Amino acid sequence: MKRILWFRRDLRVEDNPLLSLGGEVLPIFIFDTQILNSLPMDDRRVSFIFDRVLMLKNSLQTKGSDLKIYWGDPLDIFNALEAEGFDEVAASGDYDAYAKERDIKVSHILHFRYLHDTYIFKPEEVLKDNGTPYLVFTPFYNKAKAHFSKEHMQEYVYAKQRLYETSYEGITKIDVDREEILPLTIESLAFKKNLLKIDNVEMKLEQFKKNLPCYAKERDYLDKDATSHLSLDLRFGTFSVRSLLRFLLTQKKEGIDTEPFFRQLIFRDFYAYLLFHFPDLSKHNHKYRFNGIEDKGKYAAFCEGRTGVPVVDAGVRELLQTGDMHNRVRMICASFFTKDLLLPWQWGEGFFAKYLLDYDAASNILSWQWSAGTGIDPQPYFRIFNPYLQSKKFDKEAGYIKRWVPELLSVDSKKLHDESYLLNHAIEGYPKPMVVHKEASKNALAYFKQRL
Ligand code: FAD
Repeated sequence: MKRILWFRRDLRVEDNPLLSLGGEVLPIFIFDTQILNSLPMDDRRVSFIFDRVLMLKNSLQTKGSDLKIYWGDPLDIFNALEAEGFDEVAASGDYDAYAKERDIKVSHILHFRYLHDTYIFKPEEVLKDNGTPYLVFTPFYNKAKAHFSKEHMQEYVYAKQRLYETSYEGITKIDVDREEILPLTIESLAFKKNLLKIDNVEMKLEQFKKNLPCYAKERDYLDKDATSHLSLDLRFGTFSVRSLLRFLLTQKKEGIDTEPFFRQLIFRDFYAYLLFHFPDLSKHNHKYRFNGIEDKGKYAAFCEGRTGVPVVDAGVRELLQTGDMHNRVRMICASFFTKDLLLPWQWGEGFFAKYLLDYDAASNILSWQWSAGTGIDPQPYFRIFNPYLQSKKFDKEAGYIKRWVPELLSVDSKKLHDESYLLNHAIEGYPKPMVVHKEASKNALAYFKQRL
């Protein structure tokens, strides 16, 4: 069997089903111009992916294999490869709308072998007794937990394989029927290198081992750094979810309660499962006709981190500066965006998609729909976060706020959770809150009720 191994969301050698297949193989990665063409030159994610692709190439070389790196439209690339007599292309499943459509088109060129890798469960594995997909998390979670077995943690072993003979040098640019070899640099892709300070998986796990016992108690506190920071690795597959489950098992055997963290991993699975079964969710509400009100001025203030609501601005600035945002702050920001500002959730989803390093269509879309109350789960639309109470509870000393909003450094921490103080006092260089929370929530509720 002569096959192409197409790396996408699985940029690693360890525990990778693609590398367990054997036979004669051509391992490839494609810098997809359909995606890259709309991104800014200094996009952080492209830098991250470029680095990880080079690491993958290196790891494969140490195994006596290699990675051929392409730049172009996948369809042109597979059309060119088809002529070389491959039997199939193998790749791990991806449920995002663009990826699904692209894979179907590729399957018309070459036999497509879809492998299960990115999530714990296959989409058809956890269904209701009547064979239909769950819509609510808790019953899904209970069924998933009952169904979970050793097999879900099984490690894939690197199989003996013969490397297809071709040139693995540089970046092969394919443009319909023109082929060109470019130097192996990010500049060849017309992007600039972005220096990112991201720990490797081993360092993250070492740190997380210390945090795991307090994960449930501390994960929501903005200044505690109690979470794993593994979303990026899970997104790009630099660490397999099965390896993470085996890590959890060793911790569990040492008496640590791993359940709260396991639950979050199931959340990740649940969101991908929902997007798989209900692809329409990527653009449309599941219920209610709340579309939000398009207001470019409000949107611009939010995106610049200048709403005058300290915790919201801190979150947005953390995102703009680092490509990350604490989970609790993502929830606060999304609630403020869709309820206090009544903006369309799709705009907020798009803004996060542009800047989040760990951007994952399923987690992002479903979380925004959850916040807007338009999604599939029974989250009531009338639940509205009060950003001041949230920051008072989860960032009491305002350490997080002050780290990202330096204009507020000299303001007494308590005042940063006090809306009436912020509305009535000028702070140099920092705007007053653009809405009064109580009025804005009343307004939002009236808007929603009209559309029920
Ligand atoms: P940990 O707390 O250590 O959790 C471990 C893993 O579980 C995470 O790495 C992640 O894969 C998964 N996880 C944790 N919480 C959630 C959750 N609420 N939903 C789904 N999976 C979860 N996560 C993304 O990976 N990509 C996104 O684009 C994304 N967008 C979001 C948008 C909004 C509005 C909200 C509210 C949440 C979003 N999340 C997203 C979920 C969550 O915020 C991140 O997964 C988490 O902050 C990553 O940090 P961590 O790895 O330290 O998480």
